[in-house]
Order: sequence, then C-alpha cells, then structure tokens
Amino acid sequence: MKKFTGAVCAALLLVGLSATPAMAQTVTATLPTFPVTLNGTVMEQQYAQYPLLVYKDITYVPMTWEETRLLGLETTYTQADGLGVNKAAVVREQSILQAEYEPYKVEKANGKSHQATVAEGLIHVNHKSIENGSEEYPLLLYRDITYFPLTWRFAVDEFGWDYTFDHTNGLVITPKVTPKEMNTPSNAIHDVVGKKVVVNATDVYLREAAGTGSEAIGMAQKGYELIVLGTKTVEGKEWYQVVDTNGGDTMWIAGWLTVVAEDQSNSTSNPSAGSIQIESTNTSTVNSMIGQTVDITASGIKLRADTKTSAAVVGETQKGESYTILAAKEAEGTMWYQIRMKIGARAWISEKDIKNAALQSTVPVSTEVKVGSDIIVNANSVNLRLAPVTGAVDSMVDKGARFTVLAIAEVNDAEWYQVRTAEGTKVWIAGWLTTAAVAYENALVTGNNASTGAFTGMELISVEETGEKTVIKLLHGMGNAVNTLNASNTAVTLLLDNVYLNDTISGTYQNGPLAAMKAQTSSDRMVQLALTVENGAYCVLGEEENLLVITVYSQRSTGSNVLENKLIVIDPGHGVDPGAIGKVLGVTDAAVGLDVGLKLRNLFEAQGATVIMTRESDVRVALNDRPALANQVEADLFISIHGNSIDGRPEKNGIETYYYAPNTDAQLYAQSVVRSSLAQHISDGLGMTTGRPSEVRKANYAVLRENNHPSVLVETGYLSNAEEEALLATDEYRQRLAEGIFIGVLTYLSQY
Ligand SMILES: [Zn+2]
Repeated sequence: MKKFTGAVCAALLLVGLSATPAMAQTVTATLPTFPVTLNGTVMEQQYAQYPLLVYKDITYVPMTWEETRLLGLETTYTQADGLGVNKAAVVREQSILQAEYEPYKVEKANGKSHQATVAEGLIHVNHKSIENGSEEYPLLLYRDITYFPLTWRFAVDEFGWDYTFDHTNGLVITPKVTPKEMNTPSNAIHDVVGKKVVVNATDVYLREAAGTGSEAIGMAQKGYELIVLGTKTVEGKEWYQVVDTNGGDTMWIAGWLTVVAEDQSNSTSNPSAGSIQIESTNTSTVNSMIGQTVDITASGIKLRADTKTSAAVVGETQKGESYTILAAKEAEGTMWYQIRMKIGARAWISEKDIKNAALQSTVPVSTEVKVGSDIIVNANSVNLRLAPVTGAVDSMVDKGARFTVLAIAEVNDAEWYQVRTAEGTKVWIAGWLTTAAVAYENALVTGNNASTGAFTGMELISVEETGEKTVIKLLHGMGNAVNTLNASNTAVTLLLDNVYLNDTISGTYQNGPLAAMKAQTSSDRMVQLALTVENGAYCVLGEEENLLVITVYSQRSTGSNVLENKLIVIDPGHGVDPGAIGKVLGVTDAAVGLDVGLKLRNLFEAQGATVIMTRESDVRVALNDRPALANQVEADLFISIHGNSIDGRPEKNGIETYYYAPNTDAQLYAQSVVRSSLAQHISDGLGMTTGRPSEVRKANYAVLRENNHPSVLVETGYLSNAEEEALLATDEYRQRLAEGIFIGVLTYLSQY
C-alpha cells in the first residue's frame, strides 16, 4: 500500500472528470482472461489497484499516470475542452518506461466483475472531439479513473501502435516511436516552471546540476513535493531545477521522474482590487488582501518556499515590484503572504522580513567590495604586489590594515584589489586575504521604544561558551524591544517586551563569562532576564532573524600581564580633514591624535596586546567605519584620540575623557559600569602623567554610540588654548599623554 500513498496526486490529476456519476450510465466490465502486454510490460491483473477491464470484448486501460506514460499518451483537462487523451509530445525510451513502471497495487485480489460508468462531459481523443455517450466503446470511469478503450480505431488509426492479439500472447500493444518524437522537448515542459511537482518514482536522485553526470546531493521518494524554478535540457532530456517546499538549497531532478501536482489553480489572473503598501498591512485585513496588489518598497526582502523562516529562500524582492497576494497564512507569529515570483514560482513573504527590510533600508548595507569601498586585511604578513598575480612584492602589511579599493581585477577566478600604500604607490592585494569593511547592522529595538514584532513565546535556543565569551540565543521575536533595567560589574538585568515565557529559562554556566541566567515573567507581556556574569564582563545585544543574541564578553586577563592577548583599536581622529587647528602654531587635531595613537600602540604592543589602528597615516576614514572596525574585530577596547578647540574662550583648557552609556539605550546602559570605569581610569592616568586638569564627561559621539565594546574618546587638550597647543606641539608631552592612557587602561583591566 505504501506505493499507492505517494501516487495519490498523480492519480487524481488524471481523473479528468469529477462530475458525479449519479445520472451516468452504469456498465458491467470484467477482468481480462488473457495476458495483456503494453509497451513490453506484462500487466498485473489480480492485485492491480486499477486493473485492465474488458467491456464488450474490448480491453480498457486505466489512464493513471503510469499507464498513460507507458503508452506514450498524455491526458489533459481544461474547462473549455474537457478531458483529452492525446499522444504525448515527449515520449520516453522504452527501457526507462519499463524500469519505472510501477502499478498501484492492492492486497486483496480483484473480483471478476466490476461496475463502471460511462464518462460524461466533453472528451477529445488525439485532439478530436468524440460524443462519448453514443460511442459503441465509450471511455469509462472506474474507481475514479478514466478507462480508455484499446479499439483498433484509437490504437492503430489514431495512435499508430503495433497491435496484435492471439491466444498464446494475448493482447500485445507497442507504441511506435520515431527517433524524432523521442525525448523532444515540448512547449509544455516550460509550463512546469513555477509549479509544484510530485516525484513519481522511488530513489530519485537530487543533483547539484542538470544531467546524470552531476553529483547527487540527495534522494527523493515517490510522492515528495518540489517547486520547479527552472528547466534545462541535457542530452535531449528535461531536468528541473527545484527547491524543497520545506526549505534547503536548489537542486536538479530528472523531469521525467516527476509529475505536475494537481493543486495548480492560477490566481494571478484575478484583477487587482487596488494598490496597497505592504508595510501598512495588519492581520485584521488579511482576507481582504487576497487578490490585491502589493507594491514592494524595499529590495532584498526574502521570498521563501514555505511559511517558515527556515524555508529555502527562492528569491528576493526588488524595490518597485508589485505582486498579487494569492493566499495569506499566520505562522511563526507573523503573517505570510503567498505571491507568484516573476519566474512563475509561488513563494511566501513574511511581514517580519518586510519590517526588517524596511528597517535595514534606512541604513544601506554593503558587504560587497566595490571600487571606492574599504577593505581590512585579515591576515599577517600579507604581500602588496606590483601586479594582480603572485609575483613581485612591493611591501607587506599586517592584519587590521585598511585600504580603499581603487580597482578590482579577476585573475584565475580570484579577486585582487588595487590599493595605495602609505608611500603613495599603487599595489595589489589578494582579495581572499581581506574583509569588506562593513558598518555593523543591527535592527534591534533597544531602549524605551515600542515593540513592533509579534507577541512571541520566549525560549532558550542555545548557550555557546568559550573562555572569552558566551553567546546566548533566545527566541524573542524580531522588532520586540529590549531595555536594560540595571547593570553592575557582575550582573545585568534586561527587560524584554512583547514576549511571554514559553519555557523555563534558568541555569548556571562554568565555561565562559556567563555564570547564571534566569528569566521570569515581569508583568503582562514582559519578561525579565537576569544575567550573572564574571567581574567586568559586558553584554552586546544583537538580533538574528527571530533570535535575540546576547554576547557576554570577558575582560579577565589571559596572559602573564593584563594587556597580554588583548585586542585594542586605536582611533586617531580625523585624517586629511585636520579637525581643530591651533591658533598659534597650527598644530592639528588630526596630527596629535595620530602621533599619540602611534605612541600608545608601541606601549600596548610591548605588553603583548594586539593593536589595530583605524589609520596610520594622514588618510581619510569614514566616521562610522571607526566603531564598525571595533565591532568587526570584537575589540576588547576602543580608544579615540583628538585635540580639542572652542571658539571665543582661549582660556579654556584641560583633558577630557568621554564615554557614552545612557539608560535610553539597552546595550550602552548594560555597559554603563565598565564604560564609565574605563573613562575614569584613563582620565586619572592622564592627570597623573601630565599634571594637567583631567575630567570625565559624557557625550553622544558616534564612535562611542555605535561601538559594541567599551570605548572612550580622549580630548588631549585645547588647541584653542595657547599654553596647551604649545604642550601638544612637543613630542615629549605627546609621549606623556600616551603613557597616561596606557596607565589608565592598565589599572582599568587590573580590576578584573
Ligand atoms: Zn577632533
């Protein structure tokens, strides 16, 4: 019986007429008493689900998918033309047909006598209309399957088959196929694109590419459903590019081992009732949305094979497209809309993805390296070459070096980027040893913002621990707000909005900076999540699809001194743009930041820390790329260095160390203790080494606000003050500034 189950769709497809046979003429048929061989295959009689029948001494063959194919026929059904039994446009090789023929079987032997009815409605045989009710040997219906009479008129005159009958061999019918007909692709093949097909044989390979020579990456069984994205003819045979209805990669399957599924009603012909912006939809208008046109206002919204975020992505939207909504369904706490893609396949689009795309579209994301974009070297001792090949070397750079791409060359399938060295020479660097410098993107709603996601059941998905960090993933719901209730050196409590506890979240941990985690319902639609962490560990909040990702970073020392193994990003301010300029000597903000930064690097490196500079020469660095670099490399600390200035107040002087951690930003506030502590230690260190007034201040600077890691901005002194400008002009004072920051960092890290 198992074979039957998978073939239901195929069988139903070929029923053709579903009209009730109440008024239909009933006839009595019997099983053949002689063997029947169709296209070299001896037909099963006793245990066939759809046995051959004999009526008025004429043998009738069931028009199931199996028998139709065996005879090189095709059945069609349309409202206008009714049932059609025609010669197939594409005929398979006999050996394939014989190997694949698998009749539907029953466990109980068939009886001798069977009641069938005369098929009604419009019928065409070989594209010619027949009046079935007045035919001497009409098409019959039996067990909901159309039965076709193997009369001389149809078999020989219409279809041109070889037809013999004798008492030894019984009825032998063999379709004659000309080589021209064999495997000739028909237009019908292309109609399959966008449709669901059902695998119609057992152990059918799913391949990486079209053709039997391609590597098999999976296997499908009869009844398995796939969506066709495209077709390709290889050695005269059609292959379908398919995607699983439940997700996964695209694959290729032999088209002749599938059959188009029955549920293929075309809803796109519905005239649209009007135009709406999909962003404005809400669940209460779902039913009225079916048939409406959706105007897409953002590119890159995922189109999926099914109503799950884990389902395969079968396409993406382009801004300006419109789609007709074919169906709507709620799943995974969001609404999904079924649309038909340009290539014809149906796909699902979720409100959550739409919202996410709308959020992201306000911040352009570029992961692609283009001419004019920046790259960061991701390995040490990388050669800068004179040509985009592994030839003559100009110089060498280390991990963290940053360049603007001047040109891109593709050589032997590998990308090379042309960049300019600090000396101004144009050189080439291997693309695979670099990473695109990308602004960190986070659509997470933090602070006192309204949740925009669906009310979601919270669950702990995973806790991954290394010595340096613990990554917690919680099912939370994209667009739902997160607030930080309070934070200390060893605890952070988050308030998660628009969620309920689906599961108990409570545990202790040993292998990373997270010590314990406990969630409890706070009030209606809110959950409080308490994290106990090792001293000085800080949290970074992020989002991955529906998951809230909390990364807890350790600040504990892992070497013989507290700076060993630390990764520090030093950010000399400005570059090309000079920033503030001294009134007397013309000392620039940019030059002070760079020189103090380079001196500080030497001090850190001597203690075993790794330092990445946002710039090492007078080059321009985009403001947002500075914190993005720290985020990308997961820096332990970020230190931006500037020279200050104020108009009209030449007496104003002193060193200022800034941090930013307002309680309106969940992530920054969760780090408020470590951020203010870092600023205080650095300020104290600077006061000590320079003997100048030094104070801690708070400000909403992008390099601090957009930074996921403990970060400060040091204003080393006022260039608008003649005395401080003169100090900043000396190498000795800039060294003291570097030592002050260094001592501050040292004492800060020593706490942990
Ligand atoms: Zn500045």
